[in-house]
Amino acid sequence: MAYDSDNIFAKILRGEIPCDRVAENDQALAFNDISPQAPVHILVIPKGAYVSSDDFYSTAEPAEISGFHALVAQVARDAGLVESGYRLIANHGADGGQEVFHFHMHVMGGQPMGPMVVRR
Ligand code: AMP
Repeated sequence: MAYDSDNIFAKILRGEIPCDRVAENDQALAFNDISPQAPVHILVIPKGAYVSSDDFYSTAEPAEISGFHALVAQVARDAGLVESGYRLIANHGADGGQEVFHFHMHVMGGQPMGPMVVRR
């Protein structure tokens, strides 16, 4: 799938729509999910244009990948989740349930996160 520069996270990166910013570094931006599924629900997105996890991990430069993961770890730490625990989720494609086609990691915690997968 080609990257669609009109996706909602691309618009956030360009400042065209607001976000509830949590943190930022050279490679990535973190903001609160607009529809939180846990007391802490932060999204971390690379600043580069990547459709999904497959696109990001196969084409991003090592510095982008390390900077992205540094911000994931930082926001979890700064949210006070290291001792209590947290869950990282990156949905890829249809079966993964991906809705926004700009790669992102969900950082979720502040409560027991329950079973990893509920089968329907
Ligand atoms: P996914 O299903 O992994 O693609 O997750 C997309 C996430 O983006 C969902 O959890 C949405 O609640 C969240 N989301 C959509 N639009 C916005 C927005 N404008 N600001 C913050 N989070 C958003």
